Formats: sequence, structure tokens, C-alpha cells
Amino acid sequence: MIAGALALQGAFREHLKIFAKLGADTREVRRREDLEGLDALALPGGESTVQGKLLRDLGLLEPLRELILAGLPVMGTCAGLILLAREIGDNGERHLGTLPVRVQRNIYGRQSGSFVCEGRAGSCESFRQVYIRAPGIAEILDPETEILAEARGRITGVRYRNQFAFAFHPELTENTDLHELVLRSVRAPAVRKAA
Ligand code: GLN
Repeated sequence: MIAGALALQGAFREHLKIFAKLGADTREVRRREDLEGLDALALPGGESTVQGKLLRDLGLLEPLRELILAGLPVMGTCAGLILLAREIGDNGERHLGTLPVRVQRNIYGRQSGSFVCEGRAGSCESFRQVYIRAPGIAEILDPETEILAEARGRITGVRYRNQFAFAFHPELTENTDLHELVLRSVRAPAVRKAA
């Protein structure tokens, strides 16, 4: 299995380290060709406006959007959640637009917007959630969307079909559960086929 991370800007190495720890082969994704044969892709934290511009400039935005709509498992964290979102509050520019949520950038404020807290994530009730100038999931736009994480009274993680997205940074803590969840969603169809 090949698990990649979009490696244009931001904390992509941390995602690849976790994927490797979980037994996947890893790949830094920078060009169109790098998308070939991928089984899963992390969209890391960083700066969504910069990443969105690079995706466009490098001709990656459309091919990536098509792959996601065709079922490629993706995991967006922080800026990655913004890249995936269908709507961005305050008339923000939409990028991939495949995930039916409305996000609000810097929902916790720009200056004091970085903190760590515990909250539910997946089956873990006390997941250490690291926030760095994080966006918030202000609204879910499709009832098929599952809430995967919560903290401080807010929705902080969702799953919609093959798309997983978190406002915090699971790649910056020791808990590998959420990456495992994404990789398991790659393996699941094969298991079903074999059965
Ligand atoms: N505030 C950043 C943005 O809007 C996201 C921050 C992050 O990814 N840690 O893109």
C-alpha cells in the first residue's frame, strides 16, 4: 500500500512518518505523476492559501479533485481540512471543495489560537488534540457526514465517505489511531472482496 502526503508546504513529513510506522510505503506528492497508484493521501497542516495556489499552479487541483471524487482515501488536517471544504466562511476561496462542510478559518483567533486540549476522536475519549491557528467546522452540509471528533463543544473531525478531516493535528501526537482509521478504509474493500 502506498500512502502519500501532499508535500508542497507544511507538516507533511510527520504524516509520512506515521504512515510508515503503520506499515505503509510512503510518497511525497508534488507532481501529477506522483498521484499515480496512490492508495491514500494526507493533506497536511500549513497555510491553505499557499497550498491552494501551488495546487493550481502545478496543475494538481483538478486531477486530485477527480481522484477524491472517485474514492481515493484522503486525510486533511487543519489547512488540509480547509482545502477539502465545500464552503469557506467569509467568502473564502474554495479549493478542492469535495467535503460537504462549511469551515471558518482561524475560528479560535489568530494570536491565541494555538492550544492543546483533550477531546473525543474516533473511539478514543481523551485524544490529545493540538490546534495551531485552526479552522472550525461551522456547519455540516450533508447528513451522510459522520462526526469523528469533538472538543470544547465543537465538531473537530468528520468523515464523509472516503474523506477524513480534522481541525487539529493528529500527526503531531503519538496516537496513530486516526491514521490507522484512514489506512483501514483502504484495506476494507479488499477484505470484502476476498470474503
Ligand atoms: N490558519 C491556517 C490556514 O488558514 C491553517 C493552520 C494550520 O494548518 N495549522 O490555512
